[in-house]
Amino acid sequence: MDNNPFVLSEQRSIGNHYLAELRDSVVQKDRMRFRRNMERLGEILAYEVSKVLAYKLRTVTTPLGETSIPMLEQHPVLITILRAGIPFHHGFVSVFDHADSGFIGAYRNEGENAITISVDYVSLPQLEGKPVILIDPMLATGRSVLAAHKLMLEKGMPSHVYIVSVVAAPEGIRLLRENISVPFSLWTCAVDEKLNTSFYIVPGLGDAGDLSYGTKV
Ligand code: URA
Repeated sequence: MDNNPFVLSEQRSIGNHYLAELRDSVVQKDRMRFRRNMERLGEILAYEVSKVLAYKLRTVTTPLGETSIPMLEQHPVLITILRAGIPFHHGFVSVFDHADSGFIGAYRNEGENAITISVDYVSLPQLEGKPVILIDPMLATGRSVLAAHKLMLEKGMPSHVYIVSVVAAPEGIRLLRENISVPFSLWTCAVDEKLNTSFYIVPGLGDAGDLSYGTKV
């Protein structure tokens, strides 16, 4: 397991503007911009992950001759946790446009001192030997990702799991490090300070699902 997460905001890039807009309590009220910024960060992180996947040389025939290009040995499978993951997933799927996708519907039940995760929808392809990108924009407690990881293993052992988020909390990162048994690495746009007593990330950005699609009852 690679212990050090890749953190996009440690680099100077336009991605920081998209992240700032997601976090800004005024700008984030523009729902279309919020979803598009999620998608744009998905595209950027997908590109970053693409740099560490396995490639092999393929010959391409142009109208004027032939050339060799390193191309993906295998397309990754993109697995997204609903519903907050949808716009972030769009970013990944537009970069890995040949990839299969899987979906897991998970929601949190908030108790006084902890949360539990309920899963009510699972749609996954075969994962044996494949690189998997597990997409959860807000890595808070890490429990949804752990639940997703457990369900994924019922579909075969991936070659590597790339866990990607927009904002991650140290508590979630710790939980994953202690509990995930398959080879995995973490990719995020930012690592924040902590969780609050409602298990939201601080400073975070709020509820990514509500900001994308409205509040639920
Ligand atoms: N889910 C969110 O949308 N935001 C958080 O801060 C934590 C979980």
